[in-house]
Formats: sequence, C-alpha cells, structure tokens
Amino acid sequence: MEFPMPDDLFSVSDQVTLVSGGSRGIGRAIAEGFAQRGARVIVTGRDAETLKRTAEEISTADHAVRPIVCDVADPEAIERLVKSAMDAFGRVDTLINVAGVNRRMPAEDVREEDYDFIVDVNVKGAFRLSQAVGKHMLERGRGNQINIVSLNNYAPLKHVLPYAMSKAAMGQMTRGLALEWGPRGIRVNAVAPGFVLTDMTNKLWARPDMRDWVLPNTPLERLGMPEDMVGATLFLASEASAFMTGQVLFVDGGFSAGLAWPIEG
Ligand code: NAP
Repeated sequence: MEFPMPDDLFSVSDQVTLVSGGSRGIGRAIAEGFAQRGARVIVTGRDAETLKRTAEEISTADHAVRPIVCDVADPEAIERLVKSAMDAFGRVDTLINVAGVNRRMPAEDVREEDYDFIVDVNVKGAFRLSQAVGKHMLERGRGNQINIVSLNNYAPLKHVLPYAMSKAAMGQMTRGLALEWGPRGIRVNAVAPGFVLTDMTNKLWARPDMRDWVLPNTPLERLGMPEDMVGATLFLASEASAFMTGQVLFVDGGFSAGLAWPIEG
C-alpha cells in the first residue's frame, strides 16, 4: 500500500489566516510565520499604531499583511472585522484566537471588574469571533480554528484564577466546537504555550527567584520564545493534522510532562 506524502503536507500557502491579537508577542510570531509561508494574513489588536507597524514589518514581497483594529471584547467590532475580512478575501480558512489578557492577584482580591475584563476578552471575545467566522466556514463546509490556551489547562497556577478559569473555558470551547462542527468540515484545536517571554510576562521572568523555579521544572531547561508557537500552529492549520480535532497541544518545553522533584539518581 502506498501512502501519499505530498511535499505540501504542512503547507498554509494562500490560506486566508485571521490572527486575533496578532500585533505583539505570540500572535505576531504566528502571523509572521504564516505570512512567510505564503498565507494571506489579517492581524487584529486594539492599538492601531502597533498593529499598523507590525503589519508593515511582517508583510512579505508576495502578500501585504492586513491590519484591522478590533477589540474582541466589543461585539460590534467583531462584526466589522469579519465583514472586512470577507469583503477583502471572500473567506477565512484559518482563525487563530490569540488575543488574551491576564491580571495577577489572590482570589480573594479579584474584583468584579478584573473578572469581567479577563472573561470578556479571553472567553466571550474568543467565542464570539469563533462563532462569527464559524458561520462563514459552515456555509463553505470547511475551515480550521486554533485557540491559544495555556499551561493553566494542565493545572491552575496560583494567583491567576480568573485567567486559569478563562483558559479552561477555552479548552472546553475547543472540544465543544470540534464536536458540533467536525461533521460539517471544520476542525477546532488548541495550542497550550508554556512560559513564553512576551510583554505579558517579561517582568515576571526577569525575577531570579522565578527563573530558579521554572528552569529545573522544564525538561528543555529554557523559557519559550513566541516563535516556538509557530510550528504547532502551522501543523494544526495544515493537512498534516487532517485527522485531528478537539485536541490541545502543549508546547511547553515539557513542563506538563511530569513533576521534577529534587531527588537524585
Ligand atoms: P501579549 O504580548 O500581551 O500580546 C497580546 C496580544 O493580544 C497583543 O497583540 C494585544 O494587542 C492583543 N490583545 C489584547 N487584548 C485584546 C483585545 N481585547 N482585543 C484584541 N486584541 C487584544 O501576550 P502574549 O504573551 O503574546 O499572549 C498571547 C496569548 O497567549 C494570550 O491569549 C495568552 O493568554 C496566551 N499565553 C501566553 C503565555 C505566555 O507565557 N506569554 C503562556 C500561555 C498562554 P493590543 O494590546 O493592541 O490589543
């Protein structure tokens, strides 16, 4: 029996890819990784200046990356974003929900406002965008959605409870959408990054005590870089993962593989 192994197994060339939160950090690295491989990329974020600069910097000779300002917590902005994407390209092949926010504090100090801020972006924003883009994908009978979740999907970290809850909800959204939309041609998976150096986390990982904790607990003995998230995302967006849906891929240097206790030989 012969198995076809086309060279373009991992290709995203000419895919229309929408990256929410694509102006900085992990989203920017993913958007750039897709653009470099021939995808037609749309990036979103709240800050117009940063978004425009990013789009210019990651555009390629073949395709200009298109910046569209959108706060995913704003339902009308999502409608405008999806309409602009459809007007420009007529389809979205891959949606990547990256936009996310966090606030660290003990559970007893979480105010209503903190909870709503995190949930409005990470849960409701991602769901609304998945749904709005999903409706067009359902009409076409094909599409791919990838949600960026977190190590909090393995176990909650201390002092980020609303964030941990929001990422757990995104994990459940991933599986629920996979169930409903799989028979209609849409795959939905997630990537769970480990500890990655971005604007969200730079200050934390500058602390020696934090590094002293994380490095011995990470089998690959380093923090992640935004670019580390590109390969798994390309895989999930391409035919290479054609029989996968509803899954969470941990890209965490092995942090979630086990518990590294300090016992020797
Ligand atoms: P980041 O550097 O703070 O970047 C966040 C991106 O999301 C920016 O482009 C930001 O642009 C955009 N964004 C934030 N709120 C938004 C909103 N309401 N609407 C639209 N865009 C919004 O964060 P990051 O570390 O790259 O994190 C990206 C994703 O990965 C998040 O979902 C985060 O939870 C997840 N993650 C990160 C880590 C890590 O260690 N860094 C680990 C696990 C998971 P504007 O500010 O201009 O809106």
